[in-house]
Amino acid sequence: MAEGNGGSGSGSGGAAGVRVEAESSEPKRTTLRAMPREECVEGIRSALQNPTVRFLTEKMEKAGCQVWPRFIKAATCAGAAGGYSSGHGVKVCCNHMVFQDQITQVLIHELIHAYDDCVAKNLDWKNCAHHACSEIRANHLSGDCHYKRELLRGFMKIRGHEQECVKRRALLSLKSNPYCSEAAAKDAMEAVWDICYNDTRPFDRAP
Ligand SMILES: [Zn+2]
Repeated sequence: MAEGNGGSGSGSGGAAGVRVEAESSEPKRTTLRAMPREECVEGIRSALQNPTVRFLTEKMEKAGCQVWPRFIKAATCAGAAGGYSSGHGVKVCCNHMVFQDQITQVLIHELIHAYDDCVAKNLDWKNCAHHACSEIRANHLSGDCHYKRELLRGFMKIRGHEQECVKRRALLSLKSNPYCSEAAAKDAMEAVWDICYNDTRPFDRAP
């Protein structure tokens, strides 16, 4: 598993080492150039003002989880667009960011993982079902599968499309978990689908 290029060494806590990746390399139709790093850092700053981002960090703090000053970091990563890991926080992979909108999107996705880690006290990222549940929620609730985004990715079908998209992307993220084989990931996802897809906390309904 690519641990990212943070250069932070392998040290610190055991389970904290498991990383949850957002949208791994999905087929891209065109290769767009990433924005300059300073622009990305500035973009993260402005994404922090996004109402959904604020809502999620507020909910975490209310639940007693600290969102420390460097909880959200700009990073350079091999495959993924973003990541979350327990005890380390959220990273936005600037070398993969093209649009401001994308930064906000990645941030929301990863903050849903952070929120899950916060409120589900015994969440174990090494457990395929736990990880699958959080991926289902993150892909569903972040709007990652909104039809406009899917159009941009070149995927388009009408019926049941949103759910298919959530499944596809959740499986893709589970691939980066060394504890979930492909078969285990599929089984886990089917097993938790109904509960996790319908669990829209902390939102009243899927935004
Ligand atoms: Zn994810």
